[in-house]
Amino acid sequence: MAEVMKFWRALEELLGPSGVACRWEGRVGDEFAAVKAAFLQARPRPAVSYPCPHGCGCAHAVVRHEDGRMVAVCRCDPWNCDDLRLSEADLVVYELSWAKLGRALAGAFGWAVKGGALPLPGTVQIGAYGSAAVPVILTIQTEPSDFRGVVAELAARLRGPFILFAPTSRFVDGTCQELLANCRAGFFDLESHVSLTAQGNLQARKPGVELFARFLPEEKEPLPEDVARKAFKLIEQLDSDQVIKPPSVLAVFRLYCVKEMTADQVAQKCRCSKGTIINRLKLIREKTGTEPDELRRFSSHFDQIEDDIRESRASHIHRKRLIGDNKGPEDGEY
Ligand SMILES: [Zn+2]
Ligand SMILES: [Zn+2]
Repeated sequence: MAEVMKFWRALEELLGPSGVACRWEGRVGDEFAAVKAAFLQARPRPAVSYPCPHGCGCAHAVVRHEDGRMVAVCRCDPWNCDDLRLSEADLVVYELSWAKLGRALAGAFGWAVKGGALPLPGTVQIGAYGSAAVPVILTIQTEPSDFRGVVAELAARLRGPFILFAPTSRFVDGTCQELLANCRAGFFDLESHVSLTAQGNLQARKPGVELFARFLPEEKEPLPEDVARKAFKLIEQLDSDQVIKPPSVLAVFRLYCVKEMTADQVAQKCRCSKGTIINRLKLIREKTGTEPDELRRFSSHFDQIEDDIRESRASHIHRKRLIGDNKGPEDGEY
């Protein structure tokens, strides 16, 4: 497990974030080989200036001689440094591959890759988390005021929860925290939440499900009343769907599930064989997908449900009658 702690800081120090190898090495030291392989890409055009190793105060200008020699010349006045001999490799500009970093983070935390540049500098959407597809956003800024501007604009644009990543947390001040809290957004820094494996993969220190638990919709158990209402409607339907000799399914349901009588007692009451009652209970089980014994759990709800249904039907009939009365007695259906 390689730690790439300096890399996260470097992303907030190098403009772009990009630079020639010696600039990256100056920031990340021995992490360079690992981060180059994992997250950087070479720009097609070489650098036209070169950072001065002596800190003379200028960026040396790259001069290509006809014999192929390349030198970086000090532009200070008065002139300070000797020319630097360079190779093509020295002049390759490495920049952060947002796509590589985004994919690595998606793999580490387990969100769906969903790309898209946002109309904000140094800010991209890198994923959508969970069933609610909470936007996951990565922003890389070099100035605290720019960072705060991005947070404010994200809060105003998205108006709902989002997950914001940045390389470090050093720009998160009280104002940022308030803005994030107002829209129930969460901030996470890469520095303390991921490590880089020897294979060049990012590994989450805490699994995404734990870290982003509050962004997942709560799984609600259906209310017992709703379960009961659904079961009742299905049972009522059984009687209307087919002609069944008495006792009706609903009658057996009332006695067995609501009054909680035994099958024998129900058979006695309905003056039929126990086998007939068992048959009706089987129909209830098949239709509702629930054991009739289980449905007894909701017995206290069924009376209320039946009352509600009766009442709503009565008011329906009452309305119809009123309409019928207006049209004349012969139109009345009831
Ligand atoms: Zn110099
Ligand atoms: Zn100089």
